[in-house]
Amino acid sequence: MKGARALTLAARYPQSAEVLGLVAAAYDLIGNSRPLFADLQMLAERIQAALHDRAPEPLRAAIPGVAAYYHQPDPFAPSSFFARLALEAWARHAPLQVPDAAPNECPRCGHAPQLGVLRTAGNGDALFLACSLCRQEWAFRRGTCPECGETDPEKISFYTAEGLPQVRTQACQSCHAYLHLLLPEKDFAMIPDVDELAFPALDVWATEQGLHKVWPNLAGL
Ligand SMILES: [Zn+2]
Ligand SMILES: [Zn+2]
Repeated sequence: MKGARALTLAARYPQSAEVLGLVAAAYDLIGNSRPLFADLQMLAERIQAALHDRAPEPLRAAIPGVAAYYHQPDPFAPSSFFARLALEAWARHAPLQVPDAAPNECPRCGHAPQLGVLRTAGNGDALFLACSLCRQEWAFRRGTCPECGETDPEKISFYTAEGLPQVRTQACQSCHAYLHLLLPEKDFAMIPDVDELAFPALDVWATEQGLHKVWPNLAGL
């Protein structure tokens, strides 16, 4: 499902076709497998080997470090691409729980949020954060910075780009963190963590504004 969505988006947004093509190939390879943590290193290496020839140069030589990413994640390391995909496949089926997770940490695996999802609920929208590792969603207070907890409406800004009604960028003037909020009601076929890879221009723009992302996506943006 994620692979097919990535291919649809790759055709629609040529700017991100390369990374979406790689992600599609990885998800096709992983399928519905239920890897054990002990097998993850092998799975990550299998993904890396399968994508080697079509991957951009920094990814070709990247040796995935699955345990290293899980315990001390470095989303800027090229090898994190393969480690994260393998970990996501594992986390989908693993009985994870972090009872003392902070509001800005995933209650399943404790990792950072990748993005926000605004879902229509009752007489307004409800905000959920989506995990950068296991993709779990959890409710989070709207108008709040997930990085520093700022709630002052004067300090939290929202931006939309022409032609992209399905994404809104939330930025904090206190700590200069941003993240994208995805709006599934604008595109019912949306898979938020796959769709979030399709708008690299928004990340380039945000970086130019002096902002940094709460957590970089699989493309390192
Ligand atoms: Zn998680
Ligand atoms: Zn902040």
